[in-house]
Amino acid sequence: MHQRKRTRGCDCRSIAAPCWRRRTEARNVVLDVLIKHQTEGHLATDEIFFLAKKRQPTIGLATVYRTVEGLRQSGMVGAIDPGDGRMRYELKQEGAAGHHHHLICRSCQRIIDYNDFQKEEIRLVKKTQEHLAKQYNYKIIDHQIEFIGVCPECQKAGADGNA
Ligand SMILES: [Zn+2]
Ligand SMILES: [Zn+2]
Ligand SMILES: [Zn+2]
Repeated sequence: MHQRKRTRGCDCRSIAAPCWRRRTEARNVVLDVLIKHQTEGHLATDEIFFLAKKRQPTIGLATVYRTVEGLRQSGMVGAIDPGDGRMRYELKQEGAAGHHHHLICRSCQRIIDYNDFQKEEIRLVKKTQEHLAKQYNYKIIDHQIEFIGVCPECQKAGADGNA
């Protein structure tokens, strides 16, 4: 999916100038982390930082923040807010195959990906998109759907999601 370039440090002339090479390196490391940990999915920035540091010990938290934010803005990475103030990130797969919606537990912040959509769900999303495109003269390129609730484990433990 992406190529890992072997670079021997930065050879920028100016130390003060933004260094594209270091940026590319950070981007590759962050993407690598997100690809390798795709099955766990939905990593917080500090988790991405921890895993990125194992690959590239010199990487800083601010760089990871910036890189993740850049990837999010370019649409390669999706962000989910499970309600605890820590955004979670996941790699967006291209095409319909990787598309999924989320179930988020308010109590333990665990996120479930599902793509066993009901026919009605697909139809409703499609219809809503068409309506919004027309109503707001908008070109819709993506959507993100999440349902917030309480997972079975937390229900057993007595959580009602209002805690
Ligand atoms: Zn969808
Ligand atoms: Zn839970
Ligand atoms: Zn997901």
